[in-house]
Amino acid sequence: MNIGCARYSRLKQRVVVFATFVCVCQGLNATDKGLNAADKGLNQPAVSGRYYEVVVPDTLDLAERAKMGLQYFIDIIREDYNYEMPLIIAFDPGHKGPAMKMHGNSLGACQCKAAETMAYLRLMTGSKVGLEREEKMLDMMVSMFGEDGLHWVAGSPDKPWLNIPEPFVMVHGQGRMLRAMIAWYQYTENSVWLEKTDGLIQGIDKIVEHKDDYAYFPVFGRYKGDYLRSCYVKAGWGDTVEPTHEKFGEEGSLFNHQGHVPGAIATSFLLSRNDKALRLSRELTHFLTKPKFWADWKNGEYPEIVGAEHAHWNGHWYGHINTLRAILDYAVATNDTRLMLFAREGYEWARRKRLARIGYFGSQGCAGGRIIGLAVKLSYHGIGDYWEDVDQYIRNHGVEMQIVPDDFDHMCRLAAENLNDETKKLLARNFGGYAGRLNKNCTWLCCAPHGNMGLFYAWDAALRYDHGTVRVNLLLNRASPWLDVDSYLPYEGKIVLKNKQAKEAFVRIPLWVDASLVQAKIGNRQVQNAWFDRYLRFEGLGPDDIVTIEFPLVEKTETWRVKDHVKETVYTLRMKGNTLVEISPPLHPCLYGRRGKYLANEAPMRKVTRYVSEKVLQW
Ligand SMILES: [Zn+2]
Repeated sequence: MNIGCARYSRLKQRVVVFATFVCVCQGLNATDKGLNAADKGLNQPAVSGRYYEVVVPDTLDLAERAKMGLQYFIDIIREDYNYEMPLIIAFDPGHKGPAMKMHGNSLGACQCKAAETMAYLRLMTGSKVGLEREEKMLDMMVSMFGEDGLHWVAGSPDKPWLNIPEPFVMVHGQGRMLRAMIAWYQYTENSVWLEKTDGLIQGIDKIVEHKDDYAYFPVFGRYKGDYLRSCYVKAGWGDTVEPTHEKFGEEGSLFNHQGHVPGAIATSFLLSRNDKALRLSRELTHFLTKPKFWADWKNGEYPEIVGAEHAHWNGHWYGHINTLRAILDYAVATNDTRLMLFAREGYEWARRKRLARIGYFGSQGCAGGRIIGLAVKLSYHGIGDYWEDVDQYIRNHGVEMQIVPDDFDHMCRLAAENLNDETKKLLARNFGGYAGRLNKNCTWLCCAPHGNMGLFYAWDAALRYDHGTVRVNLLLNRASPWLDVDSYLPYEGKIVLKNKQAKEAFVRIPLWVDASLVQAKIGNRQVQNAWFDRYLRFEGLGPDDIVTIEFPLVEKTETWRVKDHVKETVYTLRMKGNTLVEISPPLHPCLYGRRGKYLANEAPMRKVTRYVSEKVLQW
């Protein structure tokens, strides 16, 4: 597709930038290729969706949670700071809360994650809240690009939190901004996003150190201090020495600091088919998969196992998940089986930590979303079958760490003597964000994007459509242009499919269900079950057909031993299907305390507004 001459009108400056470039786009449903970029705006959807009201079971609804998430991001944009977002909103006086805390990591890195997430949440919800404010924020972020293509944070005497008194480039943010632009490009089909993506990749190519068949970002810039030392400035790097082990970066992790970048570059290749992008992604991936970074960095090994061959690792959990995802993104873009298997083994190694049964891997609210993305992508490409894992993660810790109105009393208690009318309003603006710690005493711009991305990944995964066939991978409420799913879990073992366009449907039944007890009907007609591993197949579907699937709910109590640095704890979990109802001892008193309602055996109903769009995003 030749997008040709794209015009993009900046809102404030009314500057018209002419950019001509050619790209080959694959996997996109472009419907209005004739429109120029100025008509599209930075955040206008290329494909309009449809809204309708319907009564559905009042059970886990990712689109409804996404509405809260989007509201959170819109609400925390600081117009008084030129549309910058705070990095932390602390609730308790011990952390000087309730207060917003600005930080250079926001504009340099985490706000880019938020921008990416906002595109996903728009697609899930069709929400029109804060569109103008969001566009001004995106416009500000686009204005940060330098002539070299890099995403620069300008130092400002009015923003002491930026800490570096000159323009700087955060390595982490370069990959994050790439991902944001890949999402917004697909959502809007505005060629400006792809043009900037291409420019940023060229910029990255010039500041990495190229060696034989690999490349890396140096970790020493010109400034000292956490997050500052790895920033690139106009005078270049301070030292380009090659990192010798994985602990050679910010937060004691090379992977956390730069590991995700080749993934974003590889995904951009799927849209642009830019061979230079693929070459750079390959070089960075070769570096990240060097054996010196894997297994135990203190030279430990495992009996009769070469740990580095099997993506064993020991260290920064979040950074390793990001890096495994990047390796997977590159492997998918190049159909590299060896690296696909590496990513799979790394994922399985990662889920041994803490309590994968409920998606609890660490104290931060971003953990669930990160691993959900990895598990879904591995499953999409047939590298593993992790739908059961994803169901367990998203029903539990993947949503439990989101701040919701029911947390308000807890937040007010935390605010203690600092609670007043003003701080109450600030606390309420956190609904939809994700907590930075298990005690829910703050939201972080690290965790809120990843947590909400987890909602999107699971929502995207729950139902897929291709040429008349729907695959329902997760038994969650999910609306789509092709078929709607109403889930009565975990109150009742009942799923209702309301067909629209599908001729055939495959529905995955979770492991805890006894397959011999599943009954299905189309309309009032009982149908013979046709099983394809865990999938039930329904064929010959007509528009408006209603498929009802019923099975007995299973309630079980399980114990799991969990180790951290200091102790081992035995947890007792009361599970209804894959939904945690009670946990003892509690992970924290503010978590999982409101789930007694799931013990009822009839699902409450409620009226909601559904939004459906034909647009599917590659991520
Ligand atoms: Zn986080």
